[in-house]
Amino acid sequence: MTSVPRICILGGGFGGLYTALRLHQLIWEPGQKPEITLIDRQTNFVFTPLLYELITGEMQSWEIAPPFAELLKGTDIRFVQGSVKQVAADADLSQQVQKSVTLEDGTQIPYDRLVLALGCETPSDLVPGTTENAIPFRSLDDAYRLDAKLRVLEASAIERIRIAIVGAGYTGVEVACKLADRIKERGRIRLIQSRDTILPNAKEFNRNAAIKALEQRGIWVDLETNVSEITADSIGLTYKDKTDIIPVEIVMWTVGNQVSPAINHFGLPLNAQGKITVSDTLQVTDNPEIFALGDAAAMLNTDGQIIPTTAQVAFQQSDFVAWNVWSSLTDRPLLPFRYTDLGEMMILGDDNAVLSSFGIQFDGPLAYLTRRLVYLYRLPTLEHQLKVGFNWLTQPLVKLLS
Ligand SMILES: Cc1cc2nc3c(=O)[nH]c(=O)nc-3n(C[C@H](O)[C@H](O)[C@H](O)COP(=O)(O)OP(=O)(O)OC[C@H]3O[C@@H](n4cnc5c(N)ncnc54)[C@H](O)[C@@H]3O)c2cc1C
Repeated sequence: MTSVPRICILGGGFGGLYTALRLHQLIWEPGQKPEITLIDRQTNFVFTPLLYELITGEMQSWEIAPPFAELLKGTDIRFVQGSVKQVAADADLSQQVQKSVTLEDGTQIPYDRLVLALGCETPSDLVPGTTENAIPFRSLDDAYRLDAKLRVLEASAIERIRIAIVGAGYTGVEVACKLADRIKERGRIRLIQSRDTILPNAKEFNRNAAIKALEQRGIWVDLETNVSEITADSIGLTYKDKTDIIPVEIVMWTVGNQVSPAINHFGLPLNAQGKITVSDTLQVTDNPEIFALGDAAAMLNTDGQIIPTTAQVAFQQSDFVAWNVWSSLTDRPLLPFRYTDLGEMMILGDDNAVLSSFGIQFDGPLAYLTRRLVYLYRLPTLEHQLKVGFNWLTQPLVKLLS
């Protein structure tokens, strides 16, 4: 190892960005302070749980997706924008080969400790026509694309705006409620689900609140229905072996979670779902200098269950990864990660949300406010929290005066 340890973090989402910020806060002995490099293909971090608020314009993109450059200002974390192509995990010092990361543009970044937090993507190849004709909902670009399409339709003379949302998991249900509140009586929204219930993994109270919210908004739910194809203006729906072609203006695709494809080229151990296998200290199997967390890491909880792919998990893991990277560089014992399920919140339209946490359950405007405050506290950096919080406080006043 060179005199200054080099830590390279791949992916600036909930796992990667929060690990970098935490590492920066830890206390390092003089001469031990590492060089921390954070790499992401995007210029902005995205706080996905608040992405829905862009549909209704309740929040602005600077609040939900601040640039990395702004978040890392005042720290000595170096941000590199680039797409990760390859990881060389085997050093051969006799041939001067260092452990390094290679970006698509050929840049090589050597490391002593590597943190993998490249997350997941929404697959677009499950049904013919999805890539060309359906909009996923995961990134800022997806939210902009949806908004642009809605603006054109809202300004047009068509009487009804027909939207099909594939998948009645958390994203599908939350997008459906926000869309219904945006387009109101002009909207004809249907939610398509292959299983016999919406939100199969949700807490029962939350699922019931979601069913009520969907009913109140007149959102049609097609259960036990599969999608056969998607075209520019239609969707094929198969129910009990009978397929109907339904005309639609917009199709949203929210089904599936596929590990970032770059991970397949790293030569690291993967499980059947293509996720990187890690020990309880979040070190990659047989690669103690590499740590992995978040959606792309496969880890079992103490009860033997796979830990879910949520921001809550990635956020909790980031604390442990930062601590364990620090410990591994300062000869201290590493800590095993234990996931604590803090509960579940969902946004169900304008001014309505639902919350279940440690036996406390409620929905409506109070849940909406609580969710907002929890997420304000979870936003990265105190400076960004203060900016967003100040904006929330002053916005009603500005609206009143304008
Ligand atoms: C709309 C939506 C709402 C959600 N709401 C909630 C919620 O309310 N609560 C909750 O707990 N979870 C929620 N989630 C899930 C949550 O977003 C993820 O579990 C979490 O983001 C995982 O963190 P991560 O760091 O593993 O991946 P991500 O946060 O996805 O970060 C991965 C990063 O890696 C970058 N990247 C990927 N490939 C490359 C590459 N080859 N080169 C360079 N950079 C790359 C990406 O640009 C991205 O910034 C939601 C997800 C979505 C899509």
